[in-house]
Amino acid sequence: MKSAKGVYRFDEGSLSMKALLGGKGANLAEMTRLGLPIPAGFTVTTEVCAKYQASGSLSDETFEEICATLSDLENKQSAWFGHSDCPLLVSVRSGSVTSMPGMMDTILNLGLNDFTVQGLAKQTGNERFAYDCYRRFIQMFGEVVLGIPALHFDHALEQMKKDEDCISDQEVNAEQWKKLVLRYHWLVEAQTGKAFPQDVYVQLRMAVGAVFKSWNNVRAKVYRKLYSIPNEQGTAVTVQTMVFGNRGDDSGTGVLFTRNPSTGDKEIYGEYLMNAQGEDVVAGVRTPRSIIELKDDLPEIYAQLTAVAEQLEAHYLDMQDIEFTVENRQLYVLQTRSGKRTAQAAVKIAVALVDEGLLPKEEAVSRIEAGHLDQLLHRSIDRQAQLQVIATGLPASPGAASGVIALDAQTAEGLAREGKKALLVSLETSPEDIQGILAAQGILTGRGGMTSHAAVVARGMGKPCVCGCDGLSIDLEQRSVTIGGRTFNEGESLSIDGATGQVFSGIVSLTEPEITPELLTLLEYADEIRELKIYSNADTPADAAKAREWGAEGIGLCRTEHMFFSDSRLPVVQAMILAGSKEERIQELSKIMPMQQADFEAIFEAMDGLPVTIRLLDPPLHEFLPNQEHLVKQIRELETVGAEGEDERERLKATLAKVRTLQERNPMLGLRGCRLGILFPEIYDMQIEAIFKAAKAVLGRRIEVRPDIMIPLVGHANELQTLRKLVDDVARQVLFGEHKDLQYKVGTMIEVPRAAIVADKIAEHADFFSFGTNDLTQMTFGYSRDDAEEKFLNSYLEQQILPANPFQSLDEEGVGELIQWAVAKGKSKKSFLKTGICGEHGGDMQSIVFCQQAGLDYISCSPYRVPYARIAAAQAVLASQIAEPQR
Ligand code: ADP
Ligand code: MG
Ligand code: MG
Repeated sequence: MKSAKGVYRFDEGSLSMKALLGGKGANLAEMTRLGLPIPAGFTVTTEVCAKYQASGSLSDETFEEICATLSDLENKQSAWFGHSDCPLLVSVRSGSVTSMPGMMDTILNLGLNDFTVQGLAKQTGNERFAYDCYRRFIQMFGEVVLGIPALHFDHALEQMKKDEDCISDQEVNAEQWKKLVLRYHWLVEAQTGKAFPQDVYVQLRMAVGAVFKSWNNVRAKVYRKLYSIPNEQGTAVTVQTMVFGNRGDDSGTGVLFTRNPSTGDKEIYGEYLMNAQGEDVVAGVRTPRSIIELKDDLPEIYAQLTAVAEQLEAHYLDMQDIEFTVENRQLYVLQTRSGKRTAQAAVKIAVALVDEGLLPKEEAVSRIEAGHLDQLLHRSIDRQAQLQVIATGLPASPGAASGVIALDAQTAEGLAREGKKALLVSLETSPEDIQGILAAQGILTGRGGMTSHAAVVARGMGKPCVCGCDGLSIDLEQRSVTIGGRTFNEGESLSIDGATGQVFSGIVSLTEPEITPELLTLLEYADEIRELKIYSNADTPADAAKAREWGAEGIGLCRTEHMFFSDSRLPVVQAMILAGSKEERIQELSKIMPMQQADFEAIFEAMDGLPVTIRLLDPPLHEFLPNQEHLVKQIRELETVGAEGEDERERLKATLAKVRTLQERNPMLGLRGCRLGILFPEIYDMQIEAIFKAAKAVLGRRIEVRPDIMIPLVGHANELQTLRKLVDDVARQVLFGEHKDLQYKVGTMIEVPRAAIVADKIAEHADFFSFGTNDLTQMTFGYSRDDAEEKFLNSYLEQQILPANPFQSLDEEGVGELIQWAVAKGKSKKSFLKTGICGEHGGDMQSIVFCQQAGLDYISCSPYRVPYARIAAAQAVLASQIAEPQR
């Protein structure tokens, strides 16, 4: 319902009226109620703003209401608007519902004219002060209301000071300010063709209109777009009795944070200036002093401020950013709002507020912003350092990295072996570059979007990455890269900030991520609240250890193929693939077996009895062989060296023949996953044997083991039935009656839509379902991710055909529906069926909320995302409690 009133006195409002009074107005009203020293005033509502925006002017009706409320104010202050002996002066301030610091305009000292300025001088016995106020007012009114560019006023001020031999504003005396006022009057008339308005009511009406109008200035619009603040929200306008920090050396103005916004420490933090007004502190004309010095300058004011800070924090239950002014040793509070803070400070403050008994744990957890956690868990650029931005790409994987330019994976690996830090720079990356990505500190590419291969891999590893940096070109002959119009040779250094997409020349200094004691406490609060278990994707013992360190409760995806790519193993794997017969293949597989077993032993040990979900081989075999063109080129080169290259050439030719037979029209939908396992059972046989032998060995060391064996790409129940039998048979052979208490599970990834649809049939053979949301998204949409990224996804997003990138944020309507269907069907057959997701979505807030709602048991994400997921899972519970109050 629209309110009948358009104007509220401070003592009529409260914090709950924020939508109507804006943040500033509502907080001034609230502080008035608390009995704090707030100069009296009133607020014109956001509803009036909406009417103003529609009609383009302030209605007579509203202006009468403003004037009536102003006359209340006059009586209260015993000062009269436009009175030549006892003038009331006011500020006209903007204040929107969502804080938009400095985006709109404010006018101070309104109500001054050629007569009232004399009254002010007489009344205060301070002519210099009166004319200082007047010149400030003419300038602000001139800029904001009359639209005169600031530089004209600045120029006139400089000129006057030069003529009068004054260096700083403090040296200017009353007569000289009077001269400036005259110059300003001429300036206004020359610029607008009209005299400066002397009628104070005209001033007020114009000022209120102009502040409403500033809602649509360019910077306010840009800011709204950036933070998704609706245009309809509008600003309120607050009219408030002026208090003066520029009345002399017993006066001043400043800003105070109730805690240190940078570290979160519990200490008053802020700045002030003596004998100054309003914007002087932030405008940088004079260097402000630290608030601590106020203790000596004005000890009684300092004590009062400390008490105000404490009272406001306890009332708002958050760190506050407070504006104050001291007039003749009298303290006034002019604004309070919840203070902007760094990620470190956000965590520290939230935990401290719980410790101090001010905040419940739930509230502390729900206040933490996802962006803050991103900052905390990655290395970041030391913003104190001198930075030179040379280009900007997409912020693909947060964190910062510096390193020597490496133009290909081998170079990056070489540098890493020499103990140097490398930054992998390339036009695009492919799965073959995995070793190089692993070896590099960070990745910078010219092509590809946020879900390009480089970005996905980098995020998984917690490596900083900037993608799609337009205008990046590489000259492989010269071994140089051109970026932002500058050319760098391999060997020179670059730095990237994956949180902003910025690229810097040279090395920049970085700050390390750490789990501070406060973050640990906050994570423990989250653990008490959340219902989802948090697992991690981990392929190596090192990843497993990292995952546990960050708090993972198990491994949700261990991809065994990643164990095959290293330099020492790949030749054996290739020999296995090239084997001419099954016997030969088994022979080669028996060489791989101990390697896999060693990996599993190390991972089981690292996880110490927590569940480890191991996925049997998933990719098509050709991924382990060199690429065709490369082989052809090598063979041709060997032909030129004649007889001595003969043997090698024959070997390469055999490889090439195999590569050709393995070639598929659509490898993504071809011979891979469980299909490979069924056609070549000896491969899975070896992997299963390695798992159980490892389990046996580790159990022998009195460490508990919980292997969950996961079969990829199942679409038909019979596939799982066949392979489950293989697992059970091999387990029986290896364990041979021992370790009867070893609890292993067999389950499947649900990543083919058909599997989701017939989940009840599949559940008959499965102990768990793990939704592979990357592939499930690809197959549900019928998109190959790389192609979609490169060709059409951006257009789809621009044209709003898709609301969001489904590879980043789970498509609830389609893919989510399949997941819910599969969970329901699966559980209808097996009530104890364990369900979870292991795609990249496991690290995305919105998707985690979905998993909570869908009743999944766990989510699995990369080790670096585990702390994030712990908080997000708790926030998901809290969000659902708000959405569905207890019945
Ligand atoms: P912003 O939203 O950009 O901070 P404000 O409306 O808070 O703008 O005002 C700008 C400056 O003017 C602040 O320093 C504020 O404290 C000061 N100010 C505003 N109203 C008054 C007043 N009535 N008396 C003294 N100073 C004021
Ligand atoms: Mg302010
Ligand atoms: Mg898959």
